[in-house]
Amino acid sequence: MKYRLIPRAAKRISILGVGGLRLPKTVCNGREMVDDDRAFPLLQEAVRLGVNYFDTGWGYINEDSQRAIGHALRENRDRVYLANKLPLYLTKEPDDFWRFLERELRLMDTDHIDFFHFHMVGRAFWQKILDFRLIDAAERAKAKGLIDHICFSFHDVPDLMREMIDTGAFDSLLCQYNLVDQGNAAMMRYARERGMGVMVMGPNAGGNIAAGGDALLQKYPRSPAKTATELAMRFVWGNPDVDCALSGVESLEMLRENAGYAERANTVPADEWNHVREVTSGMLEISQMKDTYCTGCRYCDVCPLGIRPFVTLMAYNRWKIWGLEAGARSAYAEIGRDPWQGKSPVGCVGCGKCRNYCPQKIDIPSALRRATADFMMDAAGTVEPGFMHSIGPPGS
Ligand code: SF4
Ligand code: SF4
Repeated sequence: MKYRLIPRAAKRISILGVGGLRLPKTVCNGREMVDDDRAFPLLQEAVRLGVNYFDTGWGYINEDSQRAIGHALRENRDRVYLANKLPLYLTKEPDDFWRFLERELRLMDTDHIDFFHFHMVGRAFWQKILDFRLIDAAERAKAKGLIDHICFSFHDVPDLMREMIDTGAFDSLLCQYNLVDQGNAAMMRYARERGMGVMVMGPNAGGNIAAGGDALLQKYPRSPAKTATELAMRFVWGNPDVDCALSGVESLEMLRENAGYAERANTVPADEWNHVREVTSGMLEISQMKDTYCTGCRYCDVCPLGIRPFVTLMAYNRWKIWGLEAGARSAYAEIGRDPWQGKSPVGCVGCGKCRNYCPQKIDIPSALRRATADFMMDAAGTVEPGFMHSIGPPGS
């Protein structure tokens, strides 16, 4: 494993980190939880492979991800750094800071959290941090030894990220960055120049890049990557402003594969990196998918009608960005059959509730209409009978 130093934290972090959102799951009493029998060996193997950064969040896997990560790593606590987050979306008053922190420490069975984040910061949540004086609270938690570093995970425009960095309050940040979403690159550099750590989420664009497979890889003839995932990871690690890329590992096989990529990727030649960047920006431009590009974070999973917008949008990405039409169509055809995939997006009434949760600012109701229209067009270009009736009038 390779490590990079975060000057403000004086800590060396493995370039591969484990993200706790996609650990193996099971269902217990109707509730989705971490499957300890599969997740614990996976987390312990990550330590053995040299991973020392483990990121979780309050809401991940029904609040169970933090418990599983803390417990699985108990024996190795002095070898790893734990990152957790204050759920600002549930923080209703200043004292909630302490309630969540104490609960997280208990759930993780630890006496301190190394990297404590304000979760999912955008303009409204930043205002809440200021109004509730939450940075002061975090400083007090630090003085008590309950947290080591004050951090934030980010989902808004670069100007806000600059404003937050300029407070000087933060030791590291977590943001989206990958081949097809490089919007944070300038601010990542700005943070790095100030000695902050830069952790990256979604390096594989929510599985979209991996889904491109060999067909995608062939579009990058100058990359030595053996798989599309390796291509994605090498691109992220090739940026010297990145300290750690979080991977939401679901299996031992995936973890070992990613660790192998990390082993080979500490130095990515500049010409390889620039080549990958150029090819990709051309593909995204041609596909005209920037405004419906979904990373699969699932924050929009709040639909009162049981629709899971990301299932449709990620299938749509696969088709329109990566050209995988057949796979995307068969994924779309499964929606409504398997409960995990939610109800058909055709039933969307355009209420917009899900839109308020999307960190990528996707206009989800209209993206669903666009995707549904394209999916319901058969390969010969004709609309399936009954389609116009089922999606309602334009603008609904
Ligand atoms: S806009 Fe559509 S998908 Fe989103 S919450 Fe409303 S009905 Fe559900
Ligand atoms: S639509 Fe937005 S909130 Fe939903 S999964 Fe995609 S990026 Fe995340």
